[in-house]
Amino acid sequence: MKERTYKIVMLGYVIIPLVAVVTAIALLWNKYIFATDLYLLLFFYSFSILGIGIGYHRLLTHDGFKTFAPIRAFFILCGCMTLEGKPLAWTATHVKHHAHSDHEDDPHSPLEGFWHGHVGWVFSQENFEDPKVYCPHLLEDKVTMFAERTYFLWPVLSFVACYAIGGWTGVLWGGLVRVFLTTHVTWSVNSICHTFGPRGFETTDESRNNWIIGLLAFGEGWHNNHHAFPRSAFHGMRWYQFDLSGLIIRFMEKVGLVWEVQRIGQETQEAHRLRGLTMHENIAELKEELGTFIDQARQEMDQMMLKLPPQKVAAVRYTHETTMKRFVEIQLGMQKHRNMKRRAIEKRYQEVAELLEIAKQRMTMVAA
Ligand SMILES: [Zn+2]
Ligand SMILES: [Zn+2]
Repeated sequence: MKERTYKIVMLGYVIIPLVAVVTAIALLWNKYIFATDLYLLLFFYSFSILGIGIGYHRLLTHDGFKTFAPIRAFFILCGCMTLEGKPLAWTATHVKHHAHSDHEDDPHSPLEGFWHGHVGWVFSQENFEDPKVYCPHLLEDKVTMFAERTYFLWPVLSFVACYAIGGWTGVLWGGLVRVFLTTHVTWSVNSICHTFGPRGFETTDESRNNWIIGLLAFGEGWHNNHHAFPRSAFHGMRWYQFDLSGLIIRFMEKVGLVWEVQRIGQETQEAHRLRGLTMHENIAELKEELGTFIDQARQEMDQMMLKLPPQKVAAVRYTHETTMKRFVEIQLGMQKHRNMKRRAIEKRYQEVAELLEIAKQRMTMVAA
């Protein structure tokens, strides 16, 4: 399927269920859904999204600001409410995402397929990383460990509250539909915000600024900004990039509830934009060089095969085939990962050189 068609199909795939939910609300109004249900949905949706955005993400993972233990606990426990995983596993996975964004070890890159980047990745336990490796300091954090131990209590409590206020329809909308919406909005940061939207800063991944997710996820959709400056407590960096979580943090800072708020000055932002441009040119050159090198290697291999006496071809066919297969694989990978890191390019270069050398040795040996 063509890249553009694929993108349109995927966009429909993400948006149509959302439209269906809105239609269902309209059709069922005052029969199976009441105003209270919508208030519950809005209330729990908001605190779930803030729990993930401010609690799990900006506070736990990126240490974007400091605050009092009860406030820290409040946001983290709101995060638990979303059923997106315990805080330690969530954090470890996200730290790994930043370390390998859109490269081989990224737990949820949409370059492996949009579905995989969105939700497919959660089906493999291997994609949930070990906190001892990625965030060992949190194992000493009392608030985090309390949230770990009591994790399931918080979603259950939110469901009980929905039942007490709105009965079973309250549980349906304020509980289940809310979990459906909040999980998909968070996952959209991984899938949509690594696929659709402009890039303000040059980064070594495919991160994008997407205004729809920016609104729905209370600021988390300005994801290219975030990859450029992961520690910043603010993801919106232009006046028009609405960042509700950022505004809440700014307000809490004003009234003295949070401090040591990480922010990026205008000058640093500009410098990053410029540095990004030159780095990009270098990487593009390196990539081109690697491409040419592989083409040459493939030609060289073919010529050596042609020079072999026909009765000896069978003896090297396997080596020839596997080496060529790997070369093609690397070239396809280069097409897929448009923003390869320098390290990755150098590693491939090394690999191609070694493979070529081994194959040449084998061919000369057989020919002799
Ligand atoms: Zn990302
Ligand atoms: Zn992050």
